[in-house]
Amino acid sequence: MSDYQMLINGKWVDAVSSEQFDDFNPYTGQVYATVAKGSESDAKLAMEAAFNARKAWAAVPPPERSAILFTAADLMEKQMMEFSQILIHEAGSTFGKSMFEISQTIDLLRTAAGDCKAVKGETFQTDSGKLSMTIRSPKGTVVGISPWNFPLILSMFKAAYAVGTGNTVVLKPASETPVIGLKIGKLFEEAGLMPGVLNVITGPGSVIGDALVESPYCSMVSLTGETATGMHVAQLAAKHGKDYHLELGGKNPLIILDDVDMEFAVNTAAFGAFLHQGQICIASGRIIFEGDRINEFGEKLAQKARQLPWGDPEKQDTVVGPLINDSQVARVDALVKDAVAKGAALLAGGTFEGRVYEPTVLLNVTPDMDIYYQETFGPVASIISVKDDQEALSVANDTEYGLSAGILTRDIYKAVTLAEQVQAGMVHINDSSIDADACCPFGGVKSSGKGREGGRYSIEEFTEVKWVTLQKGIKGYPF
Ligand code: NAD
Repeated sequence: MSDYQMLINGKWVDAVSSEQFDDFNPYTGQVYATVAKGSESDAKLAMEAAFNARKAWAAVPPPERSAILFTAADLMEKQMMEFSQILIHEAGSTFGKSMFEISQTIDLLRTAAGDCKAVKGETFQTDSGKLSMTIRSPKGTVVGISPWNFPLILSMFKAAYAVGTGNTVVLKPASETPVIGLKIGKLFEEAGLMPGVLNVITGPGSVIGDALVESPYCSMVSLTGETATGMHVAQLAAKHGKDYHLELGGKNPLIILDDVDMEFAVNTAAFGAFLHQGQICIASGRIIFEGDRINEFGEKLAQKARQLPWGDPEKQDTVVGPLINDSQVARVDALVKDAVAKGAALLAGGTFEGRVYEPTVLLNVTPDMDIYYQETFGPVASIISVKDDQEALSVANDTEYGLSAGILTRDIYKAVTLAEQVQAGMVHINDSSIDADACCPFGGVKSSGKGREGGRYSIEEFTEVKWVTLQKGIKGYPF
């Protein structure tokens, strides 16, 4: 067990109150670390530090900012095992998921390094004949708030692109995963980032989060988290005239049409439902199956689920590790029990040991069951039967969310038509709903968020566009 301090203005500090909180290992239930418990006073100090550093950092030439991101990527590559251990012990990531997240994050850093060196403006042919153009400048001081499920990459989406485009940042990792957030602070410190540009503050989101967003020094907030948290932050940001960007929850459909190879359908559904124990905003939370082969599909998926190694995330072959905490286990179990009580067939799983919930398969899930609409965030494949592609589409859109979708079919015309009509920010044809790439627009519609992150979309979020004109010669005015 180790003690962790916060990073404010280039210094590692305790909370003003000297209070700490325990950070638990989700698998063992033991305390993994004790961490500084920040409050409003610490939020104020972090925002002041970021605000004071913003002019000097914005003046640093883009290639120099970009070089810091490249260095951070190289350092992370050398420290992969250290990052992996934190993700396993603090977030309950399996070894495989941790390495996947780390390599994606290294790619993100390098992609951001390239993108931020090449921030673009436009020129316009206007009637006046003036030289007319846009330039982009950093928004100022960005508050980045991240969740616990993919705590490294989701924090880095904010840190890398905001810092790379010349903003200063206060990063607030989730209370379940503070150490990975602090490790990001350390990484940038080692990469040579000037003090105050990236500050990392830990403690309860409800206290610190509000103080950060309400701070007069906050220019914008970028939050990834639950829809309820996002709506709260959006209201607060709007009240104080701050920009906001939100990546929120999902109940993502995986539509499987009846022409699909059975083995491919089973493997895709298993990956979509069980990766990281289903604790992914883009998990395939509703598997919408067309046609008569549904019982065979359910049985084969259950067979696969029963064979997946589950348990200790440190073992390299474990596929399904622990849920983040006891209340998540209770939530998932209640959703499964409610579905079974209302008529769903439990084909696999439905039990748990400690915080590890067995990979579970439910057949004949219907709208009266809580699991039909609620984000599960557990390793549960919920199969819904439909008669044709039109019913599949209406089931897919029967949700408050609109994050991601997967569509499996050999009929590309049908796939593209469904992709156009499904209400989601991302659609993956012949894949599960799980995909992310640093250079592509990640984000949702409806209650799943506002804005996009990745590549030029992150640059647009973290920079302000300014219209600049240049009059050539002396202009004549009407009076
Ligand atoms: P959460 O909303 O509980 O917490 C997210 C972050 O918000 C944490 O850092 C938390 O401390 C902070 N927070 C809590 N209350 C706050 C407040 N009043 N003001 C400001 N910040 C506050 O979410 P979580 O449980 O950490 O993560 C799981 C959720 O995140 C799921 O709903 C999942 O779908 C969503 N998620 C979305 C995406 C996406 O890209 N769309 C990605 C991953 C997770």
